[in-house]
Amino acid sequence: MLRILHFAAWVGTSIAVAELLGYLLHRLLHTGWIPWLSMSHMKHHMVLYGPLQKQRPSEEYLDATTGSVALGNIGLEWIVPSSMILTTVVVVLRLLRVSLFDQTVSIGTTLAWTFLMFSYLHDQMHVKNFWMERNSVLKAWFRGARKRHDIHHRVLNDPGLMDENFGIGFFLFDRLFGTLSSEQGPFNHPGYAAAMERFRYVETLQARWSVDHNQVGRNAS
Ligand SMILES: [Zn+2]
Ligand SMILES: [Zn+2]
Ligand SMILES: [Zn+2]
Repeated sequence: MLRILHFAAWVGTSIAVAELLGYLLHRLLHTGWIPWLSMSHMKHHMVLYGPLQKQRPSEEYLDATTGSVALGNIGLEWIVPSSMILTTVVVVLRLLRVSLFDQTVSIGTTLAWTFLMFSYLHDQMHVKNFWMERNSVLKAWFRGARKRHDIHHRVLNDPGLMDENFGIGFFLFDRLFGTLSSEQGPFNHPGYAAAMERFRYVETLQARWSVDHNQVGRNAS
């Protein structure tokens, strides 16, 4: 019994740490402080699944990292910081003289959770007819999380930053840090223009801008 509790405690703690680090990294990517690091994520947000675009255009995921170095669908911007974080975790666990078994459980859980949430689940939020939207056990949770992720894509502040709902499947740290949002207000057009200016270094952004504004023009007439 004690061994099971001990195991569960390591798994739970590792998931919480993975959620926190994922949240912080996702926020960092949205600040644009390190342009090369933000590149594919902002392409995901500004070109492939832009604020005025459909969030689920087809049954296939459009990969922002095509043509650049990637592992599966995870771009370099997740791999570099993740390996830095993982190295730190390993060093800390070793300094604390954690047993090899617990180290393995902890690192395995962190890796599996990160992949499951930030790669697999995230990509499926942009795909039509994903099985979870019909699963009786999971659909309420999945649809709720997906709605929040749509808001993450559509809401811009005046300086042109997406600043809500950085969690993917769970929003504990959005709650704690005050970035949670469950309703979407009117679309911020000046904020979108500011984002276009701020992230103009993102590949093929200009083409996207003219497509959106031709559509806006056509819809208005
Ligand atoms: Zn994002
Ligand atoms: Zn997304
Ligand atoms: Zn506009």
